[in-house]
Order: sequence, then structure tokens, then C-alpha cells
Amino acid sequence: MNKLISLIQRAEYSHSLSKSEIVSLFKDNDCTEELFKAADRVRKKYVGDDVHLRGLIEFSNICKRNCMYCGLRRDNKNIKRYRIQPDEIIRLAEKAVGYGYKTIVMQSGEDDYYTVDKLRYIISNIKKMDVALTLSIGEKTFEEYKAYKEAGADRYLIRIETTDPVLYKKMDPGMSHENRKRCLRDLKTLGYEVGTGCLIGLPEQSFESLADDILFFKDIDADMIGVGPFIPNEDTPLKDETGGDFLTSLKVVAVTRLLMPNINIPATTAMETLNPRGRTITLQSGANVVMPNVTEGVYRKLYALYPGKICTGDTPANCKNCITGKIVTIGRAVSASKGFRVKA
Ligand code: SAH
Ligand code: SF4
Repeated sequence: MNKLISLIQRAEYSHSLSKSEIVSLFKDNDCTEELFKAADRVRKKYVGDDVHLRGLIEFSNICKRNCMYCGLRRDNKNIKRYRIQPDEIIRLAEKAVGYGYKTIVMQSGEDDYYTVDKLRYIISNIKKMDVALTLSIGEKTFEEYKAYKEAGADRYLIRIETTDPVLYKKMDPGMSHENRKRCLRDLKTLGYEVGTGCLIGLPEQSFESLADDILFFKDIDADMIGVGPFIPNEDTPLKDETGGDFLTSLKVVAVTRLLMPNINIPATTAMETLNPRGRTITLQSGANVVMPNVTEGVYRKLYALYPGKICTGDTPANCKNCITGKIVTIGRAVSASKGFRVKA
């Protein structure tokens, strides 16, 4: 039997692969269907057919960082910046709960306007609505993470972006890889469900490096892994780069599912930017979460991490209906629970 097929079969039951085995799966283009089907079976066996929807509020596009790939980087003078006020964020969350979302995700650039006091106010008010709350607001101190947790935050997303320290240094000038890892450790210590992930297709990123990323996710026992292609942004220094491709990104999702059977894995918006059926295909290759946008009006367009972001002209109500339709069409169901990580 083909060596790669037996590798996939073994990983489906052992949930373990070596770095060179992962690389061989990335390099191959003949056994991809087997890989995606195996990941889909592992998803079904461990986390079931329910798809958890997380309502995403992009509340500020102001950022003090300068990540080379990102349209929100501070040196980008071409975008109009915005900040949504605390009471308005709470109102958006209320609406999202009205649409049936059981988790709210608050995401922004690293914007110091939102002090611990302001975030405490927002978090505690959203938590009165009986939902899970996820933050994705970047690198903070242990004390800050502790304050958000005490105010009621349940989960935190902070991608390592790449585990290659040399590449990280080039991609995230002025930032420290060690500090990013410290953030992940602190969040675990504080009892958050921790999400991380990487960009796929960064300049000079190798398959070996992507394999290291997946082994890192497993090593830190992340509860959620969000990955997606790097999509070059016109307003950044990486505008002329090729960016990530859909197939490699899908392989990263599938291998992650094989190795981490019971975690939550979103079918990210960036996947759908590269392929009109991107999220559906990803849901059928290991993913079990979707994060529809519940930001309203002009802000949706202005939160421009990368170009071609889907549904920026849509309304939150439409997005909910649209994604629900897609989920039902592939024989899956929208979850009625808050969707914490299932126990192994
Ligand atoms: N400021 C926070 C959260 C917002 S950025 C943080 O950086 O953690 C959220 C994610 O968007 C980043 O982790 C990055 O992986 C992704 N992103 C940024 N620019 C991108 C691009 N050009 N293509 C694809 N994803 C991008
Ligand atoms: Fe800021 Fe996050 Fe974009 Fe980096 S990736 S520039 S931290 S918004």
C-alpha cells in the first residue's frame, strides 16, 4: 500500500506524526483526499457534527504594532482608523446574542485606548448575557490577562504566527517571540481556553517550518487552532509577495485535526477569501467552528487585515443566515451550546 496512505491511517488512530512525516504529507498531492477524509472522520468522532458559531466584533482597527503582513500595522497611513465605544460594543454583543450566538469574540489591533477598566466594564456587561467570551487583543501583561479573566473572559486567541524565530523577527519587527510564547503560557496558567495558530505562505516559510508550527500547537496543548493563508495586502511591505495557497492551508488544518482530535478548529474567513467554498471545504477537512462577523456598517470594511475579505458589504443578520444554510447543506448542524473544548 502507498506509504502515505498507511501514514494517514496510523495518524487517524495514534494522533501522532513526526516532523518528517508531516512534511511528506505537505509535499504530496496524490493522497490529499485521503488526508482530508481522515481528518473529517476524526472531527466527527471526537467533536461531532455540530458547528459552533462565534460572533466576531472587530472593535478597533488602531494598532501600535507594525506586523509586516497586516493592513492594520501602525505605518499604514492609507486606512481610516476607528474605535467603537464600550457601550456600542456591548450593544453589538447584545444583537449578536439576539441572532443566537453563544460565543462573542472581541478582536482588535493593539489599542491602548481600551484600558483594563474599560475592558472590565465591557467584559462584565457582555458576560451578563449568558455567553462565552473570547478576547483577541494581542500581547498584554499577566496582570492584564488576570483582570480580564476575573471580569469573566473565557478564552483568548493569540496566534504565534510562525514558530520560526528568524522568520518571526522579520515579520514582526520590534516584537519578541519569547514574549508571545510567554503570553500563551500566562493565558494557560490563568485558566483561559487558549487559541493560537499560524499564517500559511509567509515569505521564505518552508514546509518544515509549518510542521514545527503544528508540533508546537500540540506541545502547548492549545484548545483552539486558527490557521489561514497569508494574503498580501497592498498597503504593506509584503504587497508583492505570493501569499499562501488554499491547498497547503487545508492540509495544515487536516494534519492539525489528526494530531489534536478534540480541539476546536475554525474554518477561517481567509480560507473563503481564496476559495468561494473555502469555509465549507474546511469544515469537511477537520474544522468545526465558524466565526461570522457581527461588526456593523462601515467598520466591516475598515477592519482590513488583508484585501478581498468576504462579506464586508453584508449585514450580521445575513451572515448568520448564509452560514447556517451552508452548514445545513453539508449535513451538519449549528450548535446550541457554548462550544467549549470537549474533554478527551
Ligand atoms: N492584533 C491581534 C488580533 C488582530 S490580528 C493580534 O495580532 O493578535 C488577527 C490575525 O490576523 C493575526 O493573528 C494574523 O495572523 C491575521 N492577519 C493579519 N494580516 C493578515 C494577512 N495579510 N493575511 C492573512 N491573515 C492576516
Ligand atoms: Fe496589529 Fe494584530 Fe495586525 Fe499585528 S496582526 S499589526 S498586532 S492588528
